[in-house]
Amino acid sequence: MTDIPSNHPRYHSLLLRERLIEGLHRGLASEAGLLAHGRGEAFDYLLGERTQPFATEAIEVTSALLLTAKHPVFSVNGSAAALAGREIADLVAGHDRLLIEVNLFHHTPERSRRIADYLRALGVPRVLESVSDDSVPLPSIQHARKHMHREGIASADVVVVALEDGDRCQALVEAGKQVIAIDLNPLSRTARLAQVTIVDEITRALHVLKVAMAADRKRAHEELSGRLARYNNEAVLQRAVAAIRSGL
Ligand code: ATP
Ligand code: MG
Repeated sequence: MTDIPSNHPRYHSLLLRERLIEGLHRGLASEAGLLAHGRGEAFDYLLGERTQPFATEAIEVTSALLLTAKHPVFSVNGSAAALAGREIADLVAGHDRLLIEVNLFHHTPERSRRIADYLRALGVPRVLESVSDDSVPLPSIQHARKHMHREGIASADVVVVALEDGDRCQALVEAGKQVIAIDLNPLSRTARLAQVTIVDEITRALHVLKVAMAADRKRAHEELSGRLARYNNEAVLQRAVAAIRSGL
């Protein structure tokens, strides 16, 4: 791994690149994941590389949803694991009802197993894999992505997706799930189709989410439900687009 000086002005951005490249070499991430991250980086640059107020609002609603959900599941792909495996493990440590399920666009049984093992090694107690003997199909989706673990996404009421493709996000919404997307591009199909969109970089967003959930755990369910009822994702996306425009 390249040694990046911590006073480098682009330290965090370079560190994330290193995490993804390392993830590729370890057989977690795919080559296509590198390109997808490049698209994300461009949006992050335009957003000032910080968690903006509209993202904080979506994160607070995510916290409320995850704490009030019956069966919340975080769908993790290779890029998400490579970039944010530690942050995902940290989140689960604070909320043990949140299940992790590995679901891959470029699926091989070996890669799925490696990602599951990587997350377990980071301390996640239970990691499911979408492709298994316990899979059920998600209608209208092709390839390995269509699988859902019977005890995971198939029975989930709330699903978190990150760096996800629009088709699968749409299929999950159509299957009746409440979908929370973490996606730096407020114009992507995923961002537009999810019920809650966190327009922020995944590692930053998960850190803020963990802090929000620790505070919200003490709050009454009615207060959290009120937050959900007042939330308007369309307005959040418009604010994200406006922030990019004003930055230009
Ligand atoms: P869609 O299929 O939703 O229309 P897309 O085809 O443009 O999106 P995909 O490659 O399917 O893009 O999805 C990857 C998404 O992840 C992109 O929108 C990209 O901006 C976003 N992204 C990349 N890196 C990060 C990151 N580190 N944090 C958050 N989002 C990211
Ligand atoms: Mg796509």
